[in-house]
Amino acid sequence: MSETGRLLRIFLELAALDSPSLNERAAADYVIRTLTEAGIPVKEDDAAISINGDTGNLIVNLPGNVSGKPILFAAHLDTVEPGRGVEPVIKDGYVVSAGATVLGADDKAGVAVIIELLLRLVGGDLPYADITAIFTVAEEVGLIGAQALDYSDWQADLGFVFDDGGPVGRITTQAPYQDHFSCKFIGQAAHAGLEPEAGRSAIRAAAAAVTQMSLGRLDDETTANIGTVRGGTAINVVPAEAEISGEARSHSVDKLTTQIKHMTEACAVAAKATGVEYGVTIRRLYEGFDLAANHAAVARARVAVKEAGLTPMLGKSGGGSDTNIFNAHGIAAVNIGVGYEKVHTPDERLPVSALNEALDVAMRLAAPQKSDNGAGQ
Ligand SMILES: [Zn+2]
Repeated sequence: MSETGRLLRIFLELAALDSPSLNERAAADYVIRTLTEAGIPVKEDDAAISINGDTGNLIVNLPGNVSGKPILFAAHLDTVEPGRGVEPVIKDGYVVSAGATVLGADDKAGVAVIIELLLRLVGGDLPYADITAIFTVAEEVGLIGAQALDYSDWQADLGFVFDDGGPVGRITTQAPYQDHFSCKFIGQAAHAGLEPEAGRSAIRAAAAAVTQMSLGRLDDETTANIGTVRGGTAINVVPAEAEISGEARSHSVDKLTTQIKHMTEACAVAAKATGVEYGVTIRRLYEGFDLAANHAAVARARVAVKEAGLTPMLGKSGGGSDTNIFNAHGIAAVNIGVGYEKVHTPDERLPVSALNEALDVAMRLAAPQKSDNGAGQ
């Protein structure tokens, strides 16, 4: 089979394997087997234990044949639901899912491209510096695989995360910070018919709080949402407990802080007005990142895309990805477009041509640049 055919075959075989978040075993075993057969050792870290999944992150350290900046390539193994029993078929130049499932090109297209990259580097005579390839688990459920990743026995100056939709050539250089927000209201239960005066409704407080919050798209870089409401026990009981949970995101950490403060104050005001107690819990889910257009990682990605005959398109993401986590660990990383469209829906599709375009970009990213030896920072 030609090498071009091999990349498509790897993607189709991967897509047909079940790998919902925290159950990535089948896809991971496929990656391990494919690379090990080519003489490329694969290590699996202990993340499965800490995140309560069945699979750890896969780490491949490929020593370079020339000197240069060590480079990270990464993609995630897990897919969203409905993603079991995927039947990938080719139709009008696209790979699609024949059934009612997602295709899972997000992010198995990225995984396939990186596997093919490693096979070509090891089996060919192209120059490359030290490369680490990471295949993470549990990205879709809060980037928890990358957060539990073993960062101890590898290092990289620049990272390229093959996890982004849109045409190949897209380079995501910015992504938001995200906080989880929840507030629990504690009132007083009472019989709703016999003595409602004795009760203080936690649901009333929660409702008042949400009503007073600015939510939705707040400006061009900030959003907020209350996504779940829980509370009450029965229709004839004044509810003693209610909890609202949500999130806020911003490309500006200051704006995020301001929004979370606003949401907290809305809860305080509502609690006071309704005579209930409240407690707010705030947790940073991930840090944002913002790499300048002339940053080494961005510059290298632009060069690679241009050399592949494509048009670099710099953009920002509305959501987080493993790239956020790598940046927080000091690896300047960007997302590289892999070409998939309509992700997280049964209409998800991948242009067949995108696989080879993304591979071409990956091969050029792996080739050492003149600037690797100091200049061009
Ligand atoms: Zn993804």
